[in-house]
Amino acid sequence: MSAPQQQQQPSTGRITYRQDLTPDLAIIRISPSDGSPVPDFKPGQFLTLGLKLDGEGDKITNRAYSIASPPEQKQYFELYVKWATEPVPGKFTTALFRMKEGDQLYWRKPAGAFTIEEKRPDGTPDDRALVLVASGTGLAPFISYVLHLKAAGSKRKIALLHGARNAKELGYRDLLEKIAKDGDIVYLPTVSRPGEPASQGWTGHTGRVESLLVPNGGKSELERALGHKVAPENSMVYICGYQGTIDSVVSILQPLGFVSNRNKRRDGSFDIKIETYG
Ligand SMILES: Cc1cc2nc3c(=O)[nH]c(=O)nc-3n(C[C@H](O)[C@H](O)[C@H](O)COP(=O)(O)OP(=O)(O)OC[C@H]3O[C@@H](n4cnc5c(N)ncnc54)[C@H](O)[C@@H]3O)c2cc1C
Repeated sequence: MSAPQQQQQPSTGRITYRQDLTPDLAIIRISPSDGSPVPDFKPGQFLTLGLKLDGEGDKITNRAYSIASPPEQKQYFELYVKWATEPVPGKFTTALFRMKEGDQLYWRKPAGAFTIEEKRPDGTPDDRALVLVASGTGLAPFISYVLHLKAAGSKRKIALLHGARNAKELGYRDLLEKIAKDGDIVYLPTVSRPGEPASQGWTGHTGRVESLLVPNGGKSELERALGHKVAPENSMVYICGYQGTIDSVVSILQPLGFVSNRNKRRDGSFDIKIETYG
């Protein structure tokens, strides 16, 4: 999906780090070329990157990427990017995946409303558990949430559910396992293609991420991990990734009384916040 139109002049940035998790999945860091610190932003916002593509002259092509680093990280924006290859190579990511550390691109200041709801519409603090549900690179904003809430010393309970095709595509797994081990979050990764060579040795959950929310033997995997029933009174759910994941998660939660931000209650309250990548 194209990034929303923004009018200000783009800044230039440099790729300062690139880690390829697989041939089509990478963690990329971008720092402002002039050495200035990364501007303030809120966890969950996206960065608009721009590139002049071959054969398109001076035209800048823009795409949005959720920022995975927390706002406390002032040296770089970290992004978690999938090379779109099917059914045809994506315009922007094909060019981006050819780039290396040191290469320059354009960026525009962070924007977007997929941020943590700190308060309810009546102004009281929202201290419900944060249930973060991601498919693929939809994990990126939640890395920013988790690192920010940890840095801020937040006491909010967090459950992070991540679905990927195979184990190699479970980006940030080591980091999240460590944070979970420290007791700061509940981390539930799952792979939908356990038979692939890239899943070799995987002994964890299998199936799509939404399956972790479906009761099985009276309770869902999420409820088992949290130790309580999941209800709008105690959980605020954030979903990021493919439209299919979003539709499935919403259809599982709606019968439990959950209401999304796209269909708020009369008093403005909601219990599911959504970000779609296209
Ligand atoms: C708010 C927001 C945040 C995002 N965050 C991330 C993120 O963190 N990480 C991430 O990886 N992505 C993210 N995205 C998606 C990203 O912005 C791009 O849409 C994505 O990288 C693909 O861009 P592209 O130019 O490579 O593909 P495009 O060229 O735009 O193509 C998009 C898709 O359409 C297909 N396609 C193109 N042309 C045709 C055609 N003629 N016929 C049939 N199919 C076609 C391509 O194969 C591809 O699958 C985000 C999007 C939004 C809106």
